[in-house]
Amino acid sequence: MAHLETDLIHKGSEFNESKAVVTPIYQTSTYIADEDLKQYITAASETKHPGFYHRHGNPTNSQAAAVLASLEKTEDALVLATGMAAISTAILTVVKTGDHIITQHSLYSGAMLFFKEFLSDFGVEVTYVDQKDNQAFEKAIQPNTKLIYVETPSNPNLDITDLAFIAGLGKKGQITTMVDNTFASPINQTPADFGIDIIVHSATKYLGGHSDLTAGAVCGRKSYINKVWRRSLVLGGSLSPFDSWLLLRGMKTLAMRVRQINENALELAQWLDKHPRIKKVAYVGLSSHPQYALAQKQMNGGTGMLCVELSADHDEQAYSYAQEVLNRLTIFANAASLGGVESLVVHPASMWGGHHDKDQKQTSGIYPGLIRISVGIENIEDLIKDFETALG
Ligand SMILES: *Cc1c(COP(=O)(O)O)cnc(C)c1O
Repeated sequence: MAHLETDLIHKGSEFNESKAVVTPIYQTSTYIADEDLKQYITAASETKHPGFYHRHGNPTNSQAAAVLASLEKTEDALVLATGMAAISTAILTVVKTGDHIITQHSLYSGAMLFFKEFLSDFGVEVTYVDQKDNQAFEKAIQPNTKLIYVETPSNPNLDITDLAFIAGLGKKGQITTMVDNTFASPINQTPADFGIDIIVHSATKYLGGHSDLTAGAVCGRKSYINKVWRRSLVLGGSLSPFDSWLLLRGMKTLAMRVRQINENALELAQWLDKHPRIKKVAYVGLSSHPQYALAQKQMNGGTGMLCVELSADHDEQAYSYAQEVLNRLTIFANAASLGGVESLVVHPASMWGGHHDKDQKQTSGIYPGLIRISVGIENIEDLIKDFETALG
C-alpha cells in the first residue's frame, strides 16, 4: 500500500482508460450500449457501474470515490452532490420510521435542520446530548436506537467527541456510528482508526479546498456503501462530472494544504490568545483547549478552524464589535463556508439568526461576540497583521 500523499495523486487511476495523464471529465449523462446487449444489461443492473447513466455512476466520480476511501481507510466510498446530500442519504440508509438516533446539541446547521424538521416528520426520534459527556450518550440509548451521529470538532465551537468511546458504544449495542469529519479533514483525523462505521464529508470544504465546488462523500464498508448508492438512485443527489473532476484536482494537494493551514492556524491562535481585546480562543491545537488531551489522542493536527470571543461589557456591544471587526478585516473575507486556500470569517450570531432561536444559540454556544475563523494558506504575517488592524 502506498502512502497517503501518493494515493492522493494516483488512487483510482484504473478508471482513466485514456492516455491522458489527467483523468478526463466524462461530461456526459449517458453511455452508448455495446452491440452485445448482454453487456448493456449488466451495466444497467450492476451497482455503481460507471458506464450506463450518470445517476448510476461515472468514471470521474469513481476515481474521486477511490481516493476518498483510501483517505478515510474504509473499504469503499460514494461521492454525492453536496455535504448535505451525503449526510441525508447516509442517514436515510440506516434509519426508518420508529427508529431512534442519538446525536449532539452542537451540529452543523443543515444537519440540525435535517434532524429537527425532516426526520421528525417521518417519525424518527432524536435525542440530543452534550458531546463532551460520554455518559450522556450511553444513558440516551434506547431499545430502538439505530444510529449515533457525531461531529468532531464541532461547528462552530470546536468541542470534541470521544471517537473511541462512541465506536465502543456502537459495537456493544449493535448501533451504527457515523461521524461528520468535515472540520478535521482526513489529514488530521481518521475515525475508522477508532472503529467508527461511517464517515461523511462536505467535500465542499477542505477536500475540494478551493471554494469552487460543492460535493459530499460517504465512506464505509462496501456492503453499506452499496445500500447508500441504491438510496442515492432515488434521492438523486449525484455529483456532477465537472465538480467531481475539480474535487479530484483539489484533493491532490490536500496533505500539503492542510499541513500549512494547521501551521498558520496554530500561530494565529497563539497570537490571538495574547491579545487584550480577545476574551477567549477556542482552538483544538492550543493546550488551553479544555479537551486538549483528547484532541492529542485522536487528531494529528489542529485544523484551520478556530473561534474567538471578543471582550465587551455587554451583549449588544459584543455583537456590534464583532461586526466592526469583520468589516475592518481585508484579507479575511466575510463569507460562509470554510476549508479553502483563502481565509474566511463569519459571525455565527448573525449568520444563523434565521436557523436558531435564542435558546438554541445559547446551547450551541453561539455568543454575540463570537467570530469563527477558517485559516487559509496566505502568509501568516499578513494574516496576523490583518487581525491586529481590525481589532483596533
Ligand atoms: C458545510 C458543512 C456541511 C454541509 O455541506 P454542503 O456541502 O454545504 O452541503 C456539513 N457538515 C459540516 C461540518 C459542514 O461544515
